[in-house]
Amino acid sequence: MQTLTVRTGTRVELIDITAQLRTLLKQSNIKNGVCHIFIPHTTAAVTINENADPDVARDIIVTLDRIVPLKGDYRHVEGNSAAHIKASIFGASQTIFIGDSDFILGTWQSIFFCEFDGPRTRKVFVKILGSPSN
Ligand code: ZN
Repeated sequence: MQTLTVRTGTRVELIDITAQLRTLLKQSNIKNGVCHIFIPHTTAAVTINENADPDVARDIIVTLDRIVPLKGDYRHVEGNSAAHIKASIFGASQTIFIGDSDFILGTWQSIFFCEFDGPRTRKVFVKILGSPSN
């Protein structure tokens, strides 16, 4: 397993980590297989969505804030229940197929680290499995 470090700069943020993951894929020499991504945090997540228009990530953040407001009928003493709820909505893992030494993604898809309680230094666990041939 490999670990990526992601330093987030604000409370809620979607950060495109596709290029960092591609670097790990190149180093692995895997041509055909799967890439498992796991976020070992309770207030962060991973999602796959559009990379072309940055307003898509902005709209996701704004809409999530409306659905899960920062202040609400929460009991969790740490005061960051909204972040925990958002993390569970998005989920802690993704699996991406690998073919021809690259991720098999849709044209406009990127892999985003989702920060819901930043800024923090975060970890992304990555396991690339497969074969060095097609
Ligand atoms: Zn908490």
